[in-house]
Amino acid sequence: MHERAPEIYDTTLRDGAQRAGLQFSVEDKLKVLHALDAIGVPYVEGGWPGANPRDTEFFRLAARENLRSSTLAAFGMTRRAGERAEDSPVLREVLDAGTPVVCLVGKSWDLHVTEALRTTLDENLAMVGESIALLVARDRRAFFDAEHFFDGYRNNPEYALAVLRAAEEAGAQRLVLCDTNGGTLPDEAARVIKEVAPNVGVALGVHFHNDAGCAVANSLIAAEAGVLQVQGTINGYGERCGNADLVPIIGNLALKLGLEPLPEGSVSRLTETAHLVGEIANIVPDPHQPFVGRNAFAHKAGLHVSAIVRRPDAYEHVPPGSVGNSNHIVVSDLAGRANLARKAEELGVDIPGERIGEILNSLKELEARGYAFEAADASLELFLRRATGWQHELFEVESFRVLVEERETAGTLAEATVKVRSDGDRHIATAEGHGPVGALDNALRMALARTYPEMDRMELTDYRVRVLDGTKGTGAVVRVLIEMTDGEREWTTVGVSENIIQASYEALAESYTYGLLLAATAVP
Ligand SMILES: [Zn+2]
Repeated sequence: MHERAPEIYDTTLRDGAQRAGLQFSVEDKLKVLHALDAIGVPYVEGGWPGANPRDTEFFRLAARENLRSSTLAAFGMTRRAGERAEDSPVLREVLDAGTPVVCLVGKSWDLHVTEALRTTLDENLAMVGESIALLVARDRRAFFDAEHFFDGYRNNPEYALAVLRAAEEAGAQRLVLCDTNGGTLPDEAARVIKEVAPNVGVALGVHFHNDAGCAVANSLIAAEAGVLQVQGTINGYGERCGNADLVPIIGNLALKLGLEPLPEGSVSRLTETAHLVGEIANIVPDPHQPFVGRNAFAHKAGLHVSAIVRRPDAYEHVPPGSVGNSNHIVVSDLAGRANLARKAEELGVDIPGERIGEILNSLKELEARGYAFEAADASLELFLRRATGWQHELFEVESFRVLVEERETAGTLAEATVKVRSDGDRHIATAEGHGPVGALDNALRMALARTYPEMDRMELTDYRVRVLDGTKGTGAVVRVLIEMTDGEREWTTVGVSENIIQASYEALAESYTYGLLLAATAVP
């Protein structure tokens, strides 16, 4: 067994975003970057600069972010046939992104060179070598993604190896064997890696897709065969059947193979991170996802609870708390307590040790009702403050009413009336909006404008709705996430109800409460 853990290279923001229906905004991408940085993922591939304006903008902003442990990588393609590397617009964009690491993809399957690129095998070798050499000359650490490597090696092993050598001779620091079509089986993956390793002088990496359902297995086999880098995505997001899911890869490496793919303390944050990335991607987390799914350790009724409690190791492949999950039986397990204590400390809320279990229980109850606190730090902080005795007298809503009207000439208009008490007075305001939430927001602002002029600076920047239980039709529970900014900081709050307006109102009121709290603590 290997003592050295492979380095994790995350491509959620590039390859993961190829998943049908997934779209990350620039803000979303920055949030994912910070989530990965927080658990110490060594490499984060941010996208393909130049491929779309969003990715270019992301790299411009990401360059200013303070990262604790992640190194940002940009992705691109080798120069085109017949082009000079210096003249390649693709390579120019990748260099302009200014990242320390660049991962370039190139063809390693002869069939793709002659049929897809319609060029000669020699020209393809020159394309790989000259493109990598240009990056190295510009002080970038170059990684080379050998596209379709496993298929190429099956078809023409000499040529596939020649492509790797071209990248190596030009100065590539990682040669990443890609199973782009995702059809390779574990025994073949192991054999190819063993055959390739003695033929190259730099570290190997792997990049598996999941079309045969073997992406995680192949990645683990590669790690055991000694490859240095494993590429994948959080929750296995990716085109078609997805990429190798880093969540079980990290879980298995750490808990089964005794390796340390992430810094100490990070593996117990896997569940939280997987769910957070799901929230950002607006994809419902798979309740049956290995390690982190809600049901990953949920034992079927009928099993003796007492037996599970007495000997959990007889029923669970790893302790659920080791990845930050729980088996829903021992609610206040140690990892849950430790996570809550850490979170409270992060948020600056002082929780007396003896109250952690009780607060954790009410938190779990709320989560079971649909609250997503991983994605709503501001709501979590307000909850923890209230749980420890804080009461705010900022404002109190007496009632609100929203009317939606369809007019032949003006289209749909909404009107909201809000009655609030603040500063000992009662304020009533009526405002219009394009939709019911906008009208409610406008009315609440108007009603509180005189007491809290600082609300002027607060702006609603994102509004997301998710139906949590699709089986009950309109009776389903709705979760609303609202993001707000005061120009300096951003915060997110959550509301849950069967009524979308009620859920929106709850998230809105919490958001203003939090914003006012921030403004108040900012006053010297
Ligand atoms: Zn891929």
